[in-house]
Amino acid sequence: MRKIEEAYICKLNKKISINELIELRHNNIELLDCLKNELLCPICKEAKLSFIFRKSTPYLKTKNGEKHQKNCILNQPVMTENERKNFIDTAKPITIIKQLEKINNLLLGNKSSKQSIGDSSEQHYQRSNKKIIPHKRIDYCLDNDDLDTIKYFYGKVNIRWSYDNSKNNYWLNVLSVNNKINYCNIKITANVYLHLDRLYLQEYNNINFVYLGKIKKYNNKNYSTALKSYCLFFDI
Ligand SMILES: [Zn+2]
Repeated sequence: MRKIEEAYICKLNKKISINELIELRHNNIELLDCLKNELLCPICKEAKLSFIFRKSTPYLKTKNGEKHQKNCILNQPVMTENERKNFIDTAKPITIIKQLEKINNLLLGNKSSKQSIGDSSEQHYQRSNKKIIPHKRIDYCLDNDDLDTIKYFYGKVNIRWSYDNSKNNYWLNVLSVNNKINYCNIKITANVYLHLDRLYLQEYNNINFVYLGKIKKYNNKNYSTALKSYCLFFDI
């Protein structure tokens, strides 16, 4: 069963997020009752969704018997963990950058990419047989099954940089737009940092962010693993 985090409402011609649905449940249950039969897949706008309220991690799911459009990404089979790792290890960086752009265009809005960062291995891209890597909003609640597994993490965030003197590593800190939550810190070795474009090394507020890799729970904070990972920022 796939957890979905946004729904399209045809009558309003807009998307509603899981966070907005939770807020309605607390503040305007009548409106939520009106909307709950109007929730459609945010991508193909065909399959009807149900809102499942659980205290820890509420989510949307496809209603029983409902079908997504054939080419909807929520209708594609999901790669195994090994297949995801193999994709990161063998795909050309340009292929991965294109995938990150696709996730941004499809899920966050149609903006051109400003900067990118990634590993520069030049091995041949292997087709993944239409299977997809699942995606997860980084700025909505992370569940245990979102940690320690390769996914596309995306959302609207603030970007900060910090330096760990003892290990000579830089960290890309991914924060909530009010700076109150630290979603994850991505390790950038000093060697890579020195080669990054100055434009990339700035602070950014409220930007679209897409990251392919793992997020690992560590010391009550979420950290990315040292595994090869990629991320892109997009100006809003
Ligand atoms: Zn769909």
